[in-house]
Amino acid sequence: MNSQTGTSRRPGFYNLNLAERQHQLAPGDLLSLEEFAALTGEGLTVEQADHMIENVVGTHALPLGIALNFVVNEREVLVPMAVEEPSVVAGASFMAKLARAGGGFHASADPPEMIGQMQLLELDDLDAARQALDEAKARLLAEAAEVDPVLKKLGGGPRDLEIRVFEETPIGPFLALHLIYDVRDAMGANAVNTACERLASLVEEITGGRVHLRILSNLADRRLTRASCTIPLSELAFGDFEAEQVRDGIIEAWAFAAADPYRAATHNKGVMNGVDAVVIATGNDWRAIEAGAHAYAARQGRYTSLSTWRSDENGDLVGELEMPMAVGIVGGATKVHPTARAALKLMGVSTARQLAEIIVSVGLAQNLAALRALATEGIQRGHMTLHAHQVAIAAGASGEQVSRLAEQLVREKTVRVDRAEQILAEWNNE
Ligand code: NAD
Repeated sequence: MNSQTGTSRRPGFYNLNLAERQHQLAPGDLLSLEEFAALTGEGLTVEQADHMIENVVGTHALPLGIALNFVVNEREVLVPMAVEEPSVVAGASFMAKLARAGGGFHASADPPEMIGQMQLLELDDLDAARQALDEAKARLLAEAAEVDPVLKKLGGGPRDLEIRVFEETPIGPFLALHLIYDVRDAMGANAVNTACERLASLVEEITGGRVHLRILSNLADRRLTRASCTIPLSELAFGDFEAEQVRDGIIEAWAFAAADPYRAATHNKGVMNGVDAVVIATGNDWRAIEAGAHAYAARQGRYTSLSTWRSDENGDLVGELEMPMAVGIVGGATKVHPTARAALKLMGVSTARQLAEIIVSVGLAQNLAALRALATEGIQRGHMTLHAHQVAIAAGASGEQVSRLAEQLVREKTVRVDRAEQILAEWNNE
């Protein structure tokens, strides 16, 4: 079976060895030889990296895993995740399996409208400046439409202008002019920044003020993406835990995050475990996504959960996640980084909107993985086996010693480097 066989359901994938797992992605109709190579270890070269940032001396790799079982808007999708933390890929895959039993994830994204900000200072009369900008709106939008002929041809470009007033600030009153700009399949920061810089002199001419900052806002709240899933009650029971107990425990855990910023920060971090891993795998800007997510989580003046969990009329568990998702499939590193290109190909996405819908679905799955563990056996149990592997390697184990040592650490319930070193020393003296 290889990547063009369609299903994201791959029973036993976890138990295959590395070569067997790679074989399932073997080059064919979906992945070319180069794309396969980029996903399986031959990613970004130092020469390519040298064209991306300054002072390059090398590259920095992360583990790349494939999350299984995802069905997003009725489409099977294999999801590449770049992440160093154990349990993330397994957690997403397992929860996607539960969601699959309820029809998978349903997701939708707003039009790709980003916000560019211009800070307008040194105005004698704020109201007059505001009125002048209102009257010149059509002219300003027409000017902005000419900035990017590619976006214009693709049906993107400026959509609107909004004026915001800041009366009491440490530097006195000023205006902020928002340019709403449709960036199509790009993340859009460069496109928006360029448009704002281009408009600045016209805005100064119209208002008599000085345009200071001209920059994108990462609070991309006009570009929200939402995903939902229904987990049939029967899928929630496991071990000694009854289905209702698991469902209600998850809802109680969510309510804690909804009420308390201390809990919400960790709750949302769990969402971002899934989100960031796909954002990074596809070469997108994860700082932009992080900034947008947390600013959006605090939009009502108090930081809260990005997701909601409830029980529906059948007693099934329903989860929803809504957050800004400014990701692209063109621009930035998405086209330059060979692994990012291959990751997009593997997912079969052809628009930024589709990518956003998958990412938010993964965020919701990851959130559920954490809540389910926390509400039942605690987070450490599932985490410990993989964590023990890292501890074993850190203590100096290699080859078959790694799994053996990890198993012993878990058995002893002492997953610490000092104990791992002690055991290794004992083995080496045997
Ligand atoms: P970009 O400028 O590299 O690419 C976007 C351009 O690609 C468009 O302007 C358009 O001309 C062209 N294009 C071709 N086909 C397109 C299509 N189908 N849809 C849309 N555009 C198409 O990239 P960008 O997305 O404007 O900017 C992203 C980069 O900006 C990221 O690397 C990010 O890290 C960086 N950045 C971020 C911030 C921030 O988040 N605050 C600030 C500055 C820069």
